[in-house]
Amino acid sequence: MSRTELSNMKQPPVPLATLIGQELRNGKIEKPFVKYGQAGLAKKGEDYFLIKADCQRVPGDSSTLFSVFAIFDGHNGISAAIFAKESILSNVLSAIPQDISRDEWLQALPRALVVGFVKTDIEFQKKGETSGTTATFVLVDGWTVTVASVGDSRCILDTQGGVVSLLTVDHRLEENAEERERVTASGGEVGRLNVFGGNEVGPLRCWPGGLCLSRSIGDTDVGEFIVPIPHVKQVKLSNAGGRLIIASDGIWDALSSDMAAKSCRGVPAELAAKLVVKEALRSRGLKDDTTCLVVDIIPSDHPMLPAIPRKKRSVLTSLLFGKKSPNSTNKGNNKLSAVGVVEELFEEGSAMLTERLGKDFPSNSNPGIFRCAVCQADQPSVDSVSMNTGSFFPPVSKPWEGLFLCTNCQKKKDAMEGKRSTRPSETA
Ligand SMILES: [Zn+2]
Repeated sequence: MSRTELSNMKQPPVPLATLIGQELRNGKIEKPFVKYGQAGLAKKGEDYFLIKADCQRVPGDSSTLFSVFAIFDGHNGISAAIFAKESILSNVLSAIPQDISRDEWLQALPRALVVGFVKTDIEFQKKGETSGTTATFVLVDGWTVTVASVGDSRCILDTQGGVVSLLTVDHRLEENAEERERVTASGGEVGRLNVFGGNEVGPLRCWPGGLCLSRSIGDTDVGEFIVPIPHVKQVKLSNAGGRLIIASDGIWDALSSDMAAKSCRGVPAELAAKLVVKEALRSRGLKDDTTCLVVDIIPSDHPMLPAIPRKKRSVLTSLLFGKKSPNSTNKGNNKLSAVGVVEELFEEGSAMLTERLGKDFPSNSNPGIFRCAVCQADQPSVDSVSMNTGSFFPPVSKPWEGLFLCTNCQKKKDAMEGKRSTRPSETA
């Protein structure tokens, strides 16, 4: 074949599978860029941010980067918010097994978040202080976003399709009937402030203490049915990326999720955070700490979320997330999966530790060393254990495989379920 003949030949069409493969190589497998900005005006000075954009899953290996963003909105003082900000990340990470693959690490994360929140609460309780805090903790690893939250700070996700979703659940007694039932069943009383000869005012609160939240870190003076067990949601974004807006109730009492997302579309994260705060102040004034963190997860080093042609995206997403295709007849899915740009990996909000950490092991007197699922302390299984160990179960339990609790953590678990109290005043 001569050179002329070669150059005259038509290029054969590129098969779709090859195109998809190129998309995967170019976009999906490469890690996205994470850009963030924060802004705020303080009224009470009780909102704290945690921003660690360059954590490493494997220390020293820069290919294992992940980012953490969190907000803590304190009440009755700031010590719980500061304590949580300083200790929660290490408490979460120490609950993840060593030497596991990235996929296993991400799968272990929801459980580790529960452990980290509870451990932080137990450690704060030992200080004997009474303040409390919300905690909304967001971990971004590649396209996977994992959010754990107690209280009423929120994280929302704005995706390329313009669909805004809430990744957290509000733990407010006023708005959460399930939580009201749980608190009441565990020994709390739920009601409003009683003033002026029996007139009830304000939101539903939990008594004793008068807290409006049903979950928090701290609040040791309220009652341990106010639990630190977080709602956890894990999603995987498409390679179109998305924007997270993380903020305390100072923003959300003024703006709906849609309003917050719309107020800052098309601008880089740093400016976006300022615009959200400005919009909240415009509609409500400075009545509370009004602070906001915007995190963009974007496919290239681009200052803002790029526009992706709708057609290309729908082909890709229907292939990548076949069972949650936007073109399928399965319309019963929630808003997130209905657009097909976000894959839901995990969601659990139960306040029961056994449901979150795994089943109890059957009782057995097998000798050995066991590791507490919450505080990670090793204990001999002879007298000092309050729970049961399995004979099938190797000495030194793998912390992600089931629920073994040391005496102290078992007490905490019982207290959260209303079975007894570990409040300092009653255990002293
Ligand atoms: Zn323990």
